[in-house]
Amino acid sequence: MKILVTVKRVPDYAAKLTIDPSGNKIKTEGVNMIANPFDEIAVEEALRLIEKHGGETCVLSIGTDDCTAQIRAAMAMGADRGILVKTTESLDCVSISKVIAKIFGEEKPDILLMGKQAIDDDSHQVGQMVAERLNLGQATQANKVVLEGEWATVIREADGGLETLSLKMPCVITTDLRLNEPRYASLPGIMKAKKKPLDERELSSLGLSLTPSVTLQKLEMPPNKQAGQILPDVQTLVSKLRDVEKVI
Ligand SMILES: Cc1cc2nc3c(=O)[nH]c(=O)nc-3n(C[C@H](O)[C@H](O)[C@H](O)COP(=O)(O)OP(=O)(O)OC[C@H]3O[C@@H](n4cnc5c(N)ncnc54)[C@H](O)[C@@H]3O)c2cc1C
Repeated sequence: MKILVTVKRVPDYAAKLTIDPSGNKIKTEGVNMIANPFDEIAVEEALRLIEKHGGETCVLSIGTDDCTAQIRAAMAMGADRGILVKTTESLDCVSISKVIAKIFGEEKPDILLMGKQAIDDDSHQVGQMVAERLNLGQATQANKVVLEGEWATVIREADGGLETLSLKMPCVITTDLRLNEPRYASLPGIMKAKKKPLDERELSSLGLSLTPSVTLQKLEMPPNKQAGQILPDVQTLVSKLRDVEKVI
């Protein structure tokens, strides 16, 4: 069995972010960058499935040379090899889905595991786009994955509770928070990761047409929150909402 896992390099969720003077991107200088937390969960799930069923885990990242740090981190957890599609361009979700679909076509994995969303742009759509592009079965927001023969059973979190889906492999699965607890890399794992194969490809070598369909025009910081107030009773709250804030 082969599992392909995507890992995006994103700003640390604990970092205090500011906007670049250009106004259309986040300042990343001096910001700690990490693997998207949902992708770490996807790597962990791939490792657990491979430990149970045998095979290999390949990690894919798309971005600058710096993304090798996140690929190596996934390898230190136990992934077997990595692919970096190198670009300094900021690609929209459609372009990213085209790149992932192209690598999927070359690698032909049994499962593509992805995070349900990236914490930087919160788009929550790349997994679905890749599945549609490849005409594969998909399960988003997985909180349990069981494999049997050619089938993957995925329990997913839906608005009304839990939903159980059966997907014929190859398929696309995106991970939710409660799927697992990612392991820490061990020291021997970190040492081994340095020697694992990492295939670096130029984006231009993939022969894709990547005209963006979405461009980011401007970023703004949210308005500062006003200080909260402690009110003595419900009556005061109601009169404030009615007479001062005029929301009821
Ligand atoms: C990257 C990421 C993105 C997410 N995005 C969303 C989202 O967009 N929308 C959404 O609904 N959920 C989101 N979540 C999920 C959400 O954060 C978790 O489901 C939620 O935090 C779980 O809360 P909890 O109280 O069950 O547990 P925990 O997160 O474990 O928190 C327990 C509570 O105890 C406090 N606590 C923990 N340790 C200590 C300590 N030592 N001292 C004092 N207090 C402590 C915590 O501050 C917290 O209030 C996201 C999670 C992650 C990791």
